Amino acid sequence: MTQPDVIVVGAGILGASAAFHLAERGYRVVVLERGAPNREGSGTTAGNLHIQAIHTRRPGQEVPVDSARLLPLQLRASDHWSRIEEQLGADVELRRGGGFMVAETAAQEQELREKHEWERHAGIPTEVLTGDEARERLPLLSDRVRAASWCPLDGYANPLLITPAYLAAARRHGAELHPFTPVTDIRRVGDDYKVLSGDRSWTAPVVVNTAGPWITEISALAGIHIRMSPVAIQMHVTTRVPPMMHHLVQHIGEGMSVKQVSAGNLLIGGGWPAAGLDMAGRSTVSLPSMAGNLAQAGRILPFLGGLRLLRMWAGPLAATPDEMPVIGEVPGHPGFFVAGGTYAFTLAPVWGDTLCRRIAGEPPADPVDDLGPGRLLYDDATTPVSP
Ligand SMILES: Cc1cc2nc3c(=O)[nH]c(=O)nc-3n(C[C@H](O)[C@H](O)[C@H](O)COP(=O)(O)OP(=O)(O)OC[C@H]3O[C@@H](n4cnc5c(N)ncnc54)[C@H](O)[C@@H]3O)c2cc1C
Repeated sequence: MTQPDVIVVGAGILGASAAFHLAERGYRVVVLERGAPNREGSGTTAGNLHIQAIHTRRPGQEVPVDSARLLPLQLRASDHWSRIEEQLGADVELRRGGGFMVAETAAQEQELREKHEWERHAGIPTEVLTGDEARERLPLLSDRVRAASWCPLDGYANPLLITPAYLAAARRHGAELHPFTPVTDIRRVGDDYKVLSGDRSWTAPVVVNTAGPWITEISALAGIHIRMSPVAIQMHVTTRVPPMMHHLVQHIGEGMSVKQVSAGNLLIGGGWPAAGLDMAGRSTVSLPSMAGNLAQAGRILPFLGGLRLLRMWAGPLAATPDEMPVIGEVPGHPGFFVAGGTYAFTLAPVWGDTLCRRIAGEPPADPVDDLGPGRLLYDDATTPVSP
């Protein structure tokens, strides 16, 4: 390729989505990936499409997500996911069987009703059901379920298929992918950025930093200090069983998500913390988190107690200090874009489209100025800068 228009750093789902949207519009795109594509957060994710508001905190999460703010973006994501298989020409095991969010206490039921109002406002179809009504639709739910909200748009996709599908489609449109190519330096040369990997380099007027938990590290190479709060969380998977459940089941008060994937395995997660975040290699799982997550899931869906656990794993997540996504151009650094943070799997199609529009100088489909990286900038390793 002659000089690219855009250099994307990181081949997780966000880098892959950005590369696809840009290449489809005719931009010459180079994607640089430190290791194998889709190995980090995007390859270890639960892969849920969160269309109704989550409104819960991960165990240990200090700051709540501003759920109401994200709803228009989740609705936009729902539209994108509806056409994604056709758009990419690939089966990504997309399942849109809808989802329940359950409440066990009166306070949690009240939260369901509150979020239902936000969802109604945002145009997201949800209904609040009594426990009995929910059990009529999903008899596997236990008597502990006092109420549940139902959203027909919730779903999931196979994380091992979607990022490769984005990358394959991007390459069909001319994008270049360089796996095992860690970015080691970024220099400003005139109006361009020169991005180095050892003794190789690429130069372009635009850099898209989609390095997930390494957003801080990659930005710092360009002299930009972005505060992130990466964490590692874990997932559990049972052996395969015949089809029993077509819905996503979540909990309003506690981090919990359960679903049966196409292969028949039940996937259980909810943001429970791993034993440790290892930025250099593999994060390690926590047995107390496993016990907590499985006990909670078994309380809501007792049939899980009869299944065998096959495997568990931990993956890194690019959380921000305010738990909101980050998307946009870095103030004072024209052409340097960042995308990451909350629900990056669900929002990946929206962020790819948003980055593309921004780079093309067009307004995004939804306003996102309040989610820009300016709010996370600081002068050096210690001093926050006001946005
Ligand atoms: C266990 C778990 C469950 C989750 N569940 C959900 C869910 O159900 N729904 C949802 O919406 N979200 C969920 N998330 C969050 C979401 O899946 C991730 O945040 C998202 O996949 C991250 O995508 P990304 O492209 O931003 O980052 P990543 O997938 O982490 O990709 C970043 C890439 O940058 C590369 N990189 C790093 N340094 C360099 C360098 N120097 N040079 C080149 N490349 C570099 C990395 O190798 C990596 O491939 C979950 C996350 C985890 C871990």
